[in-house]
Amino acid sequence: MSKILSVNAGSSSLKYQLYETPEFDVLASGQIERIGKEDAIVTITTNGDKHKKTVSVLDHQAAVATALEDILKYSEIESLDEIVGVGHRIVHGGEIFSESVKTTDKVVQDVEDLSQLAPLHNPANLTGYYEFKKALKSAEHVFVFDTAFHQTMEAKAFMYPLPYSYYEKYHVRKYGMHGTSHKYVANRTAELLGKNPKDVNIIVCHLGNGASLSAVKAGKVIDTSMGFTPLSGVMMGTRTGDVDPAVFPYLLEQTGLDPQELIDVYNKESGMLGVSDISNDARDIEEATEAGVPRAILTSEMYAYRIANFIGSYLIQLGRVDAIAFTAGIGEYDKGVRRRIIEIVSEALGIVFDYELNAKVRGVEVELSKPNSKTKVFIVPTDEELVIAQDTQRILGI
Ligand code: AMP
Repeated sequence: MSKILSVNAGSSSLKYQLYETPEFDVLASGQIERIGKEDAIVTITTNGDKHKKTVSVLDHQAAVATALEDILKYSEIESLDEIVGVGHRIVHGGEIFSESVKTTDKVVQDVEDLSQLAPLHNPANLTGYYEFKKALKSAEHVFVFDTAFHQTMEAKAFMYPLPYSYYEKYHVRKYGMHGTSHKYVANRTAELLGKNPKDVNIIVCHLGNGASLSAVKAGKVIDTSMGFTPLSGVMMGTRTGDVDPAVFPYLLEQTGLDPQELIDVYNKESGMLGVSDISNDARDIEEATEAGVPRAILTSEMYAYRIANFIGSYLIQLGRVDAIAFTAGIGEYDKGVRRRIIEIVSEALGIVFDYELNAKVRGVEVELSKPNSKTKVFIVPTDEELVIAQDTQRILGI
């Protein structure tokens, strides 16, 4: 039995889960939000008991110290030396990493260098790594990359039709995100179909506050909706997804905003929030849609329409779709979103959908299609933290 920590360090938050092998029982699960503030929110859940406090956590070093103190205080472990493996979520692995890896000086330097492709994320992920490395003397570390699973895309799918030199000089291409989730859900969906991943074609719809779709053929991603950054693809909670790129310079001129301010609007004030003027939370949009609020109805219709278009294009590239899997907050919990998407794509895919069941279930692994459905539909709750811990165990051999 060994204890493994799964870590997701963001710029102002730290999330972690402590597991015990071989069953991967969760011993503790916690998060620290508002790092850098006097009133950071610190929570830890152990054995179903949630402990919450508001304290000053001024930097990542303090966040890691707070997390480890809480783990010692509230979980069953007696010494931090019991934690022998730490898996870190790293957002960008560029073209270097197509698998999770054990950290070495070279690996860490490569991830540092890749910060130019993910300036907001990789440095924060690395800060988490540096602090846990200092604090946990007996642990070895593994990096698990959000981009890795998508590295199987062929050049015809990942290249943008820009001058080729921009790819060579500036590494501009499609990378994709949420790879850990896409990988887990695609493999699990193959299991639910009772098939080897090599024998099935699956479309994964990861619909959370950030959202991306992937087309997985024979266990390999052939295309995904996010691109060079997480801004592209489908409409999201606050992000635009795809918009004609020429709108950007036009809006700079019209609004008088500077490029950073406008890209902030694209990232933080658009999507469901921007169109509806109500909320970025799908629950609020669903409620307002049911109440007949016109802008909420438009938001819901746009959201489904744009996702359905990606499903359609993936159907063409895959030729045959064995299953569609819904995952992440919206995919797992929002019956209205699932219904609207399936209503659009069911005829083309030969889906016989169990609308009654869809309206009843939330957050559980379940098949939503009827036995005579040509393409099956599932909810497959994602568990990125668990995949990070499992990769850590496998790679470290602990
Ligand atoms: P995630 O990024 O995977 O944590 O997903 C977060 C999103 O899931 C939130 O923005 C909500 O819009 C959505 N969500 C969570 N719970 C529900 C629910 N019960 N019904 C509809 N949407 C939900």
